Amino acid sequence: VKDPRIPKIASSIRVIPDFPKPGIMFQDITTLLLDTEAFKDTIDIFVERYKGKGISVVAGVEARGFIFGPPIALAIGAKFVPMRKPKKLPGKVISEEYSLEYGTDKIEMHVGAVEPGERAIIIDDLIATGGTLAAAIRLLERVGVTIAECACVIELPVLKGREKLGETPLFILVTSD
Ligand code: AMP
Repeated sequence: VKDPRIPKIASSIRVIPDFPKPGIMFQDITTLLLDTEAFKDTIDIFVERYKGKGISVVAGVEARGFIFGPPIALAIGAKFVPMRKPKKLPGKVISEEYSLEYGTDKIEMHVGAVEPGERAIIIDDLIATGGTLAAAIRLLERVGVTIAECACVIELPVLKGREKLGETPLFILVTSD
């Protein structure tokens, strides 16, 4: 995206090498949250993009999708639906598995949180391999929801996560190698 607000957002993200394990360049968005202008601009850019587009669901992926998703949902008049790690939600859930470097993980959503025919966006802080967002797409599509777009603050393009999302568009603010 070409937007004059992007450079400040990009520079507010701190990169911590070798966290949580050697070889990972961890993109730390907590420093973006400390920068009141960068945080507001981040939310504003998403809101400008999705307001008035018939989106009734903002689905946020645990954990950092829970930071960016709710302010967007409030501003565009959509509900916020948390997509959680296993065994966190108290009600009846549907879940979707995805593969990790070693083994598998799962995300879960409450049954009844969304209705067939609703239009959603899915929010997370970052797309790496794309496995998490691909699972979130499958989960919502299984219950008849249309995914208008996935939106992240950061993309790591070398991992080609975008290719895992199939037809679903991906909107991002910042890329990092
Ligand atoms: P993936 O499923 O591989 O696209 O991984 C995306 C999820 O892992 C997101 O929820 C990110 O918050 C987290 N993640 C993966 N890689 C990084 C990274 N280098 N820095 C920060 N978070 C990451």
